[in-house]
Amino acid sequence: MQLETYVIGGFVRDLYLKRKSKDIDIVTIGSAIELAKKVSEKLKNKPQVNVFKNFGTAMLKYKDIEIEFVGARKESYQRGSRKPIVENGTLEDDQNRRDFTINALALGLNKSNFGELVDPFNGINDLKNKIIRTPLEPDITFSDDPLRMMRAIRFSSQLGFEIQTDTLQSVTKNRERINIVSGERIIDEINKIMMAEKPSAGFKLMEETGLLKIIFPELLQLKGVEFINGVGHKDNFYHTLEVLDRIVPNTENLWLRWSALLHDIAKPATKKYSEGQGWTFHAHNFVGVKMIPGIFKRLKLPLNEKMKYVQKMVQLHMRPIVLSEEVITDSAVRRLLFEAGDDIDDLMTLCEADITSKNPDKVKRYMKNFLVVREKLKEIEEKDAIRNFEPPVNGELIMETFALAPGREVGIIKDAIKEAILDGIIHNGFEEAFAFMLQKASELGLTPKN
Ligand code: ATP
Repeated sequence: MQLETYVIGGFVRDLYLKRKSKDIDIVTIGSAIELAKKVSEKLKNKPQVNVFKNFGTAMLKYKDIEIEFVGARKESYQRGSRKPIVENGTLEDDQNRRDFTINALALGLNKSNFGELVDPFNGINDLKNKIIRTPLEPDITFSDDPLRMMRAIRFSSQLGFEIQTDTLQSVTKNRERINIVSGERIIDEINKIMMAEKPSAGFKLMEETGLLKIIFPELLQLKGVEFINGVGHKDNFYHTLEVLDRIVPNTENLWLRWSALLHDIAKPATKKYSEGQGWTFHAHNFVGVKMIPGIFKRLKLPLNEKMKYVQKMVQLHMRPIVLSEEVITDSAVRRLLFEAGDDIDDLMTLCEADITSKNPDKVKRYMKNFLVVREKLKEIEEKDAIRNFEPPVNGELIMETFALAPGREVGIIKDAIKEAILDGIIHNGFEEAFAFMLQKASELGLTPKN
C-alpha cells in the first residue's frame, strides 16, 4: 500500500516550537482506516484501532500518544451551522480548511518526501514572527466555523503570539457568529485561556473584539471608572485580570484561577457613592456568591463541588486582608480556619494575588502582614486543630446526657460549644467541652438525667 501521507497540524507546529504534544494527526490521500490498520500491525503489541466509520477516520493509542488518521478532505459550510459538508480532497484542500497558517503545516511521511515541509501559507514565517493568521480570507475562515475566533485568542494567549491585524479585525466583524457555537466548545477555549501563562491577554482580546460582551457580560461590567466629586474607584476589570495573572505562578488549580476571575464580580452590582465613605462595594462577596450559579450554568461550568469551592473562595476573599489590618487575635484566626477548612492555603494564595496596589510600600506592608497571618494560622492550627473541626461533644451525647429529643435546645448547646472554642473560652477538647455543655444546659434549665 503506497498512500501519500503526512503528519499535520498541532504536532508539526509544536515540533517547531519545541513544545511537547501528545496527539499526532496523520492525513492521507486515501483510506485513513486502512492506513491505521497497517500502522498498527507494524507497531509493538499491535494496538487496537478505533474506527469511526461514519467519518472515515481511525485512531490508535501507542504508549501515551494518540494517533489520529484522517483522509484528506475538502469542506464546505452552510451559514447556520459549524458542521461542514465533507468530500474527499487533496492535501491542499485539507490545508485550506485549517484554522491558522501555523496549524496548517504538513511534513511528508513517504520515502520520497520524508520530513519535507509542505507549507502553502508560509506558516513557518508566522511561527518565527509569532503571528496568528488565517490561511484564507479571515472572514471566510471565521464565518465558516466561528469557534476559530476563540481558538485564535486561545492560541495567542497560550503561545504568546500576536493576532495579525486583518485576522483580528475579522474577529470583531464576525463576533456575533459565536452564537452558533455550543457553550461547551466555548468554555473549553476559555478554560485553556485560564490555564495559559498570561490569561489576561486572552480576556483583553475578547473584550477588544466584542466577544466578551456576548459570552461573559458580567466580566465586562467590571470595566470602567466612575467619578463623583472628583473621586474615582479602581477599574475592576483590569484589577481582576491583574489578580488572575498574579495567581498563575502560584497555582495550577483551574478553580482557584476561576475564583480569582470572579472574586469581585459583584462590584458593579453593589457599587455606591456616599459623601462620608466615598466608593463602597458593600457585601460584594456575598452578592458574588449568589451570582456564581447563574454564571456557571450559562457558561456550562460544573454545578458541583468545584462551584461550591469557587463560591467559598469568593465569599471569604476579604477575610485575611481585614484580619491583617487589625490586631490579629487568636479568635479571629480560629474563625477563619473554621470557615476555610482545608482550603485556607488556597484562600491565602488568592488574597496575596489580590494585592495589586500601585504603591510599593503598601504592597510590602500587606505582604508582611500576610506573613504574620500565615504564621498565626499555623500556630493556632497546631494548637487547636480547627481546620477540620469536629465538635468534641456532639449532638447525640447532648441528647443522651439530658434525655432530650432532637430539637432547638440541642442546637443551641452545640452552637454555644463551637462558639466557645472559636472564641478561645475553652480548648478544643472533650473535658472542657463537656463541662461547658453542663454549664450551658443549666442556664437553659436542663439537668442531666442521672
Ligand atoms: P491543542 O492540542 O493545544 O488544542 P491543536 O492544534 O493540536 O492544539 P486540536 O484541536 O487538536 O488542536 O486540532 C488539531 C488540528 O486540527 C489543528 O492544528 C488544526 O490544524 C485543525 N483544527 C482543529 N480545530 C479546527 C477548527 N475548528 N477549524 C479548523 N481547523 C481546526
